[in-house]
Formats: sequence, C-alpha cells, structure tokens
Amino acid sequence: MLPNSNRARDLATIVHQQTELSGMRETGATLMTGGDGVYVFDEDGKRYLEGMAGMWSASLGFSEKRLAEAAYAQMQDLPYYHTFHSRGHLAAVDLAEKLLAMAPAGRPGNPLSKVLFHCSGSECNDTAIKLAWYVNNLRGRPEKKKIIGRQMGYHGCTIAAASLTGMPGMHREFDLPISDRFLHTSFPHWYRFHEEGESEEDFATRMAEDLETLILAEGPETVAAFFAEPVQGGGGALTPPRTYFEKIQAVLRKYDVLFIADEVICGFGRTGNPWGSDTYAIRPDMVSCGKALSASYQPISALMISEEIHQALLEQSARLGNFSMGFTFAAHPVACAVARRTLEIYEEDRVFEHAAEVSPAFLGALEGLMDHPLVGDVRGVGLIAGVELMADRARRVQFAPEAKVGTRVQERAMANGLLVRASGDRICFTPPLIITPSQVEEMAGLFRRTLDQTLDALTAEGLA
Ligand code: PMP
Repeated sequence: MLPNSNRARDLATIVHQQTELSGMRETGATLMTGGDGVYVFDEDGKRYLEGMAGMWSASLGFSEKRLAEAAYAQMQDLPYYHTFHSRGHLAAVDLAEKLLAMAPAGRPGNPLSKVLFHCSGSECNDTAIKLAWYVNNLRGRPEKKKIIGRQMGYHGCTIAAASLTGMPGMHREFDLPISDRFLHTSFPHWYRFHEEGESEEDFATRMAEDLETLILAEGPETVAAFFAEPVQGGGGALTPPRTYFEKIQAVLRKYDVLFIADEVICGFGRTGNPWGSDTYAIRPDMVSCGKALSASYQPISALMISEEIHQALLEQSARLGNFSMGFTFAAHPVACAVARRTLEIYEEDRVFEHAAEVSPAFLGALEGLMDHPLVGDVRGVGLIAGVELMADRARRVQFAPEAKVGTRVQERAMANGLLVRASGDRICFTPPLIITPSQVEEMAGLFRRTLDQTLDALTAEGLA
C-alpha cells in the first residue's frame, strides 16, 4: 500500500492512459488538485509549470473564471440537448457561426462551410474518414477509399483514428490498422533523416516523391484522402521542412485526393497564426480541431467540411433519406457555450497575438539550450517546440532506446516542477498561450537544470 492513500485509491481503480502500467504500480499517479494560470498543483501542494498545457490543450491556463461562468450560465438555461432529428439549440449555432467565421481558407472556390461537432479529436478524424468514404460512394467511385497518414503522425485512439496514426505501439497487439485501407507515408523529420548535404527543400521534394510513389503503387483510383497535422505533435513537435506542404498538396491535387488537416493541436493560435493551415498555406477539404477550441475546459471538438462535401451529403441524403450518424454528447450545449466564450476571450484578450509576440522569446530560450551537450536540435514555431536529445550532436548519433533518455528527462523535469512530454528522445513544449516572457525564462531555466542533472546521471552510468 502506498503511503499516500489517494494514490492507493487511484491505483485500485483507474487504468491510466499512455502509461507504463506495471511501472506505475510502484509510484502511483501524481494527482492534480488545482491550477493557477500556467501552473498546476498536486495534492501535496507542489507547483508545476505546465509546459504542455496539459495535453497540448489548456490554452488559457488553469484558472480562467470566465469559462466557469459560461458553463454555469448555460447549465441554468439548457443543460442538455442534441442535434438529432432536425432539432438543435442556439449554443451550437452561436459557436458554429463563430468558428466558421474564423475557419482556415479551404481550396479555392470551396470554402469550409459547415461543422459537425464531436467530443474528441479522435471522433472528428473518424467522421472525416467516414465522410470521405460516403462521398466517394455517392460519386460512383466505391474503390477510392484508401486513407494515407504519415509515420509517427497522431490522429487519435479510436479504431479508425488509431489505424490512421503512424505509431507502431498504437497498432501492435491491438490488431490495427483495422484494414488495408490505411497506409502510411514517410514523415518529414528533416533533422534526423536528411542525408549529408540534403537541404530542407530537397528533403521536402523527397517526401513528396515518397507520397506520389505510394499513391501510384496503390493506384490513384483507390486513394481517397491524406491526413496531416501541420506540425506533427505526438510524433515530437516536428515542424515541416520548408516547401513541404506546397509539394505535398501538388501531389494530392494531381491525383484528386482530399487533404484533411488535423488541427487538433495546431488550431487556435498555437503556431503563431489562428491555424497551422495559415502558417503553412494548407488549403484543406476538411479540418478537425478540438483541445483549445474550449481551452479544454469542456470536451468538445469540431470537424469543418468544405461546401463540396456538404453538397455531397445533401445529395446522398436526397437519395437515402437519413444521414445515419450522430453522438449523444455532440454539440453539448455546455461545451458549446464554453467554447464560444473561449473564442471570445481569444479575441478580447488578443490571445493569438500575444502568443505570436511571446514566440521569439520562447523559441529563443529553447534555442539557447543548443550549447548543452545533450541537445542536438531545437525546432519550433509559435508556441510549439521540440528539443532533440542526442548522444553525439556532431555525428547525429542517438541514444540507445533502452536508455530511455527522453523519459528520464521528462521525469526529472517533473521532479523540478516542470511538465514536459517526451516523444522518444524529443522533448515537446506547448505551454498555455497566455505564458509570459518571464515564465518562459523560468521554464527554460528549469529545463536546463533538468538537462544538467540528466547529463550527470548518464555520465555516472557511463551512458554519456
Ligand atoms: N489529432 C491530434 C493531432 C492530436 O494530437 C490528438 C490528441 N493528442 C488527437 C487527434 C486526438 O484527440 P483526442 O485525444 O481528443 O481524441
């Protein structure tokens, strides 16, 4: 029995997510009990700077009272309703109008014009896949159904979204991908995979050629859609190499393949613009978003679809009658009210502009760590960054996976009061968008101390 009884209660009842379950039997979970701005507190009163905004998501930090008030007011008015059977409610309409008014530009002449609400990013991506299939059935091309994601791309945890995700651990033992309709193309991690002398632009060309080769090998008439996160999040906060999306989109257009932008992390100011699609000139057919849509104060996500896809849904329904899908909690009024208030706060407080203004200090503070012997590369945009840990920077040699250097850094950072996330040996940072320059300095200072301690420990063990 762990001395802290709440930890014991947690262990006795909860299966934790993305966790080494057997390992945590020893330590139990750290239970958070409160928050203040960019900080959270555990039950022992220890304070942590949330360098990940929770799950890349709590954009307004952990104590935004205006969102609590919005939730309470909506609960008093209409605590629940749905959007089935031609019914609906104003909280959803108000949010949809606001969201669509700020949507990224779709393909020329084909704006993102409608929204389907969900409760998670995974569900949005599932629906996007279903709609791609549904639309191609309508268009009389039932063989055009394959969906291409990228290795190390992350799109969620449901059966379809996890199939689309390109992470072996999410497939192994879960019998995924669910079918051979799910394919994965190479991922644009220039720093690690570029050949000697290969520029970012040349590397991007190679990535686009890989995609084209895959489409041709499968047969373009069988490929329906391509999914990408503008900045790959779970894969390690990987910004695309220069010209990547321009070249990828040219291939997709050539073979009539839909582009679905997974903006679940990048949406709402994270990359220094409202959308990652703005930052990288992506013109998507569908966009999934969640997380910062409600600053994560309520579980809500949204799939925005182009007018062309919406027209196809109308045509299908004229033939078949019912549009046969829907979730009980989709467009939940309390979540909609909180999300709408979040979007208002983004405007009132100029949150996206603030994030863009703090970005140089944030990226500069992390780039300042390039003098550290453990750091091979630092890359980011807006308020998202990845720090690559390397055994030998000059020769680009990684640590052995068994050394679990990334996990060690993540744990040591936590002991130092800083929450970051390891993706292999890349350490990801996505603080709340409200972070100030002095908090950025504090974050970088805590991280440098963490790196120093890790280096000492690795040296003592003969691993560095
Ligand atoms: N897409 C991306 C890019 C994500 O990062 C995530 C979650 N981290 C998801 C989809 C899935 O979202 P959710 O966990 O809300 O299902």
